[in-house]
Amino acid sequence: MKIKCPICNSIKEKEIWHNKVWGGSKKDKFLHCIKCDIVFLYPFPNVKDVSRFYKINFGTYMEGRSPEINWKDLKKQYKNLYKREIPLRSVYLDKYLKKGNVCDVGCSTGFTLDYIISKKKIKTYGVEPSIEHQKIINKKHTIFNDLNETQIKFDNILHYYVLEHVYDPLLFLKICLSKLKKNGRMIFEIPNRNDALFSLYNLQNYKDFIMQKMHLFYFSEDSIKFILDKFKIKYEIFKCQRYDYNNHYNWIANNANNKKRLFSFKLNDLYKKEICKKKFNDHFTIILNKL
Ligand SMILES: [Zn+2]
Repeated sequence: MKIKCPICNSIKEKEIWHNKVWGGSKKDKFLHCIKCDIVFLYPFPNVKDVSRFYKINFGTYMEGRSPEINWKDLKKQYKNLYKREIPLRSVYLDKYLKKGNVCDVGCSTGFTLDYIISKKKIKTYGVEPSIEHQKIINKKHTIFNDLNETQIKFDNILHYYVLEHVYDPLLFLKICLSKLKKNGRMIFEIPNRNDALFSLYNLQNYKDFIMQKMHLFYFSEDSIKFILDKFKIKYEIFKCQRYDYNNHYNWIANNANNKKRLFSFKLNDLYKKEICKKKFNDHFTIILNKL
């Protein structure tokens, strides 16, 4: 297939990465660009459909994917995401957050900003397009619908699981960098498409579940480097693992994401470290400085 790559514009032949899209139609698939190593949704949606989706349909869509998070009950969702994500995010926030102010782009219910003000005296801002989410965010944070709404320059910008959803990741990063002060810091997380369940265990059910319509892009370490190298920045990429051996065992043995917890904390901790060492980590944390 000779299709233009939305990241590097290469028109060279694309290979099919996965021919099924969760939440998509029969003609949807994911293609791999050999030049920049990105995987992208094809046919690629138009910009209006993408922004409409986040205003209206996001909760309903996510309820079908991970009901345990309670996407429709935002207060429960807040609690569940705080419990799942803050132990991972706090490792980097405690170490790398600079003094001054912080803006969390795609801040959801504001749980990350709440964690930050519980630890540091820092002015907090968030960007959240969903009207329902905005209603429950702590009034201590200043919230915008869009990053372009403000002229403020930030010391820190955060975005968790945003880059794989945006229509134009290069433009998104360019806007974020333009809102960052000189030497300002950006901290963000993205999923790694070469995670253990996909690349090591090669599980068909998992592949069909994880390759979803809402993700326009799937990054690898090489493809995120390709993008970051276009900017005047200094960056570091950390290999991180959210899901433990209990979760992986259930996928391997039961071909599903279920709740059974069979293995000890000690084993799970060791397993996660091994997975990262072998580059089958499930996400990356990226810390960068604007030069
Ligand atoms: Zn490309």
